[in-house]
Amino acid sequence: MRAVESYIEGRWHHGADGIMVNHAVTGESIATISSAGIDFAAAVEYARTVGGPQLRELTFHDRAGILRALGKHILADTAALYDLSTATGATRSDSWIDIEGGAGVLMAYSGVGRREMPNAKVIIDGEPVLLSRDGSFLGAHIISPRPGVAVHINAFNFPCWGMLEKLAPTFLAGMAMIVKPASQTSYLTELMVRSIIESGILPEGSLQLISGNAGDLLDHLGPQDTVAFTGSADTARRLRIHPAIIDNSVRFNAEADSLNAAILGESATPGTPEFELFVAEVVKEMTTKAGQKCTAIRRVLVPSGVAADVEEAMVARLTAVRVGDPADAETDMGALASLDQREEVRQSVDALCGAAKVVFDSCDFHDVDEDRGAFLAPTLLRATDRRAAAVHAVEAFGPVATIVHYEGTADAIDLAALGKGSLVASVFSPDDGEAAELALGIAAHHGRVHVVDEACGSSSTGHGSPLPQLVHGGPGRAGGGEELGGVRSVHHYMQRTAIQGSPDKITAITGTWTKGSRRTDNGHPFTLHFEELQIGDAITTDSRTVTIEDIEAFADLTGDYFYAHMDEEAAKASPIFNGRVAHGYFVLSAAAGLFVWAPPGPVLANYGLDNLRFATPTYPGDDLTVHLTAKEKSLRAGAGYGEVRWDAQVVNQNGETAATYDLLTMVACRPNGDESA
Ligand code: NAP
Repeated sequence: MRAVESYIEGRWHHGADGIMVNHAVTGESIATISSAGIDFAAAVEYARTVGGPQLRELTFHDRAGILRALGKHILADTAALYDLSTATGATRSDSWIDIEGGAGVLMAYSGVGRREMPNAKVIIDGEPVLLSRDGSFLGAHIISPRPGVAVHINAFNFPCWGMLEKLAPTFLAGMAMIVKPASQTSYLTELMVRSIIESGILPEGSLQLISGNAGDLLDHLGPQDTVAFTGSADTARRLRIHPAIIDNSVRFNAEADSLNAAILGESATPGTPEFELFVAEVVKEMTTKAGQKCTAIRRVLVPSGVAADVEEAMVARLTAVRVGDPADAETDMGALASLDQREEVRQSVDALCGAAKVVFDSCDFHDVDEDRGAFLAPTLLRATDRRAAAVHAVEAFGPVATIVHYEGTADAIDLAALGKGSLVASVFSPDDGEAAELALGIAAHHGRVHVVDEACGSSSTGHGSPLPQLVHGGPGRAGGGEELGGVRSVHHYMQRTAIQGSPDKITAITGTWTKGSRRTDNGHPFTLHFEELQIGDAITTDSRTVTIEDIEAFADLTGDYFYAHMDEEAAKASPIFNGRVAHGYFVLSAAAGLFVWAPPGPVLANYGLDNLRFATPTYPGDDLTVHLTAKEKSLRAGAGYGEVRWDAQVVNQNGETAATYDLLTMVACRPNGDESA
């Protein structure tokens, strides 16, 4: 018998008097679990004082690199995880979602960190705002890691993915975490954490594991800490009013259960591809993970005229679902996680039967003892009272869905809202207008709306799959929280702060040159290597007079004969110009001609412009000058170069801005440099 352990304060901890956990398929006892003897206060302190400081020493790019290494490590050897996952009742494809899907989230967040975040320790949120007429007082926002601990409390249904989808954004943010998986399937989480700890990839103290109950953990949380909870709405309700959470305003994010809907549009009549896609998706959602997904479709909303067709098509597909041993490759649907779980689902079906009628609930159970294992036939119901509270409130967390008919689009939107807030809803419709009306009508009640038509039928990632790039969560009943969604969820583990001060102070604090702050002449900045270049290094160029010949030559070269450049009368007649003007792209090109350093040097390439505006038209006879200032540096570790963002201001002889933009360049590090700048 395996004793599931916790990993606390850098050591594996064996708790006495563990509760027994059974194999979902055979019913045999497979593990004991206990958190007895853990000093929860010390665990919290260890995260804050050992894990957190090490993480905050790293930049976002450093942490992104570690996430990538961790993802690769998990993917390199998954055999033992797959073997053990069978004990949770999961088929091979269910386990794939949990194990490889979880590692995929790490890889995706590694990409978010490297592509969308700076190689720095704080994030600058938006542009500074002027707070005085003379520009001497500004405000800016920064987002920095919180020095507390992130407590993750997870549900039983995805023991690996559930941990990793929270770990990735938390780690990227720079916060140490304590993970508490649901007891029922914690043996699989423990196996994965063991592999992570043994790999030595994560800084010590950044990840601790509690196997078993959470004891007095929450009592020790303070104002810099965060709780991210996934589980039932009931538990969420109890935890969010914990005194320590209320007294210290501990951030509390809840991902709870919900009565997710799939809506068949009236235009998706039987025989249309959307009708077939709808039926297939609902059956897939009922049977994947034996319906134990927070996102699974529970309410099947269909136009009343085709309810019988939908029912018939679904029953035909459900009859073909092979239920049995999850280790058998032929099996479509395995077991629920435990006999207790099956009992809960049966009770929920009984509760639904007050307002619905069972239309299908039979199957052959292949090669298993359906009494000892937690097996349940897919169960389809039809609502007899389509507005009854039970239909929209009782979550049967298993292979169960209820068909509810509707009368017109407004009625469908109204019924979807009776769920009082859900994680996701799907809309199936070939008609753009109908799809838009449904999607916009239900959007405020959902965290995600998944719209399917023939064009994306085979490429859709599916109703039930939360994606790292997209928000996962939902209002109301669904917990009111939000996780995933790319960089958005990293911010949940950080603090946004408004900083006010003079331009020089804002530059010093943010590490990004701010308009109005010092510009330094250290020679032409394009002759400086990445390490030598300082924020604020600048050049003011010679000036160049723009002529009518320049404009005509540029038009001939590019084929851009737009009236404003070529037709004096038409240009004058426009409400914008006083006569022919230079092409904006000529202004940019002429500016480059003024500031570039022509011979080979540290500046390797220009890879784009951001925030470009042509503020004042440039007329023949205008003199242009460029003020170029090094604004932001981000080292590409190991690449031999860094990215440098320059503030570029092209001004005319009157000091008016002709063009303003950020120029993006790659600047070489010193040959054999240590890349440490
Ligand atoms: P649960 O019973 O609410 O338990 C969730 C977690 O809370 C478990 O780790 C549980 O630990 C822990 N917990 C319970 N009481 C606690 C307390 N007083 N202090 C600290 N932790 C406590 O939910 P579940 O049965 O595991 O999961 C199924 C439910 O989760 C379903 O309703 C499903 O819809 C929902 N879910 C939602 C999402 C989502 O993303 N929105 C994802 C998956 C599942 P123990 O196991 O040790 O009791």
